[in-house]
Amino acid sequence: MHWSKVIAKEIVDSRRETKHVVATGITPSGAIHVGNLREIIIGDAVHTALRDMGVDAKLIYVADTFDPLRRRYPFLPKDYETQVGKTLSEIPDPEGCHLSYADHFLQPFLDSLELLEIEVEIYRADEMYKSGLYVDVIKEAFLRMDEISRILEDVSGRQMSEDWTPFNPLCDACGRITSAIVTGYDIKKEKAYYECECGNKGVASFAGGGKLAWRVDWAARWKILGVTIEPFGKDHAAPGGSFDSGKRIATEIYNYDAPYPIPFEHIHLKTQSGEGKKAKVTSMSSSKGTNIPVHEIVEAVPPAILKHVIVRVRPDKHIEFNPALPLLYLIDEYEREIGGIGRGIAGEIPYRHLLTLVQIARGEFSILLEVIKRSGYAVHGDDEELEEIRKKAGYAENWLRTYAPPSLKFKLQLDVPTEELKQLSELQKKALGSLAQKIQDGMNAEDWHNRIYDVASATNMETKELFQAIYMALLKKPSGPRAGWLLASLDSEFLRTRFESAAVITG
Ligand SMILES: [Zn+2]
Ligand SMILES: [Zn+2]
Repeated sequence: MHWSKVIAKEIVDSRRETKHVVATGITPSGAIHVGNLREIIIGDAVHTALRDMGVDAKLIYVADTFDPLRRRYPFLPKDYETQVGKTLSEIPDPEGCHLSYADHFLQPFLDSLELLEIEVEIYRADEMYKSGLYVDVIKEAFLRMDEISRILEDVSGRQMSEDWTPFNPLCDACGRITSAIVTGYDIKKEKAYYECECGNKGVASFAGGGKLAWRVDWAARWKILGVTIEPFGKDHAAPGGSFDSGKRIATEIYNYDAPYPIPFEHIHLKTQSGEGKKAKVTSMSSSKGTNIPVHEIVEAVPPAILKHVIVRVRPDKHIEFNPALPLLYLIDEYEREIGGIGRGIAGEIPYRHLLTLVQIARGEFSILLEVIKRSGYAVHGDDEELEEIRKKAGYAENWLRTYAPPSLKFKLQLDVPTEELKQLSELQKKALGSLAQKIQDGMNAEDWHNRIYDVASATNMETKELFQAIYMALLKKPSGPRAGWLLASLDSEFLRTRFESAAVITG
């Protein structure tokens, strides 16, 4: 049984709730990258498994837009030094295209979730605070501040400072949420009094005037949103870590059962330079500035495949993800074991074959349809089918542009590559000539394959040399995609003329 089904079953068997909320989320402090996809895709898989069992469940995504900017990241302008400590929802977009800093990084990711076909309810922490959703849990936290402090000390082993409170006021003078100390509070008025490092003394409303310290916030949020299941990075699951403290705060302070935890391992991103024996695989990391933003990968990899990359591995195992050739092997595996990518005809065309077809079509959709038909697929041409083909071809084109190794790329030569053909041996040219004579309309990949072997053996040459000659004549390079597929997708008259002219070229 798939791990997502095992977990879903365990949740249904072990918990008393009959309605389930799977919570995921992020702090949008920078570009959201492929590594961050694991959480939402694990959540989606478990949500789907619950739904399949007939359980009432929903998937939510909470953006921590009310968190402070921790430091000026290298990608930020110098004057953002003055924004450090302010909340992401109140800091201006560094590129000026969205309403806030938080939106700038969050919005492209939310758009990607739509492409990924993940159905999710979105919450923004700043809106939750400002709308008063947190007021009751903040009151409770103030009233039982000492107990919470003791729990945090117990769990983390850290000494809590004398002036610690569970609430971080947002200073109305300097705008920072990291610099003020609570000096008093009024439960009835739902307000806290504070003194800030900047010298300001002020009053903060429980509704948007500040936020709970994060370990308390996490537990409080479970109760507010009714969270019953939560995947999170394994770092939070360490003994004495934030899940341990959250669990105790939830049960002892908020009288709420902590969610079923799904700790998961990281995704190691790999990038490759060079091919074959010279291939060099290196790790990517955000800190080195080598990472893949989610909005980039969702343009180049079909949603089913991106989900497959993640759900095929149990959450407690790390994932190595290399978007170049290794991704293509995964697609092969997916097509073999699970099925085609896309619906109808689109689903029947193997992805590798489509990579060849889109390169032959060179961006012309009408030519693409022609070559698809020529290679043996009955395109009916209704809107839905055309849309599916267009989508799948779009992924293939973007992948070729962004991640494909050079060996998989080619350009069909519309003019005879005279200079290159002069380099062919007499035997190779002769073989191309006799291949031209054996061309018939409607040959499929296998026919071509057999014909090539026949000609090679009749001409008494290595088949490899004939393949080389064919690629040279068509692509101006000595190698290319599977020859049978390539040739079957091309017009037979075009091929006949090309091979005949290659045969008579003289150096
Ligand atoms: Zn923007
Ligand atoms: Zn201040």
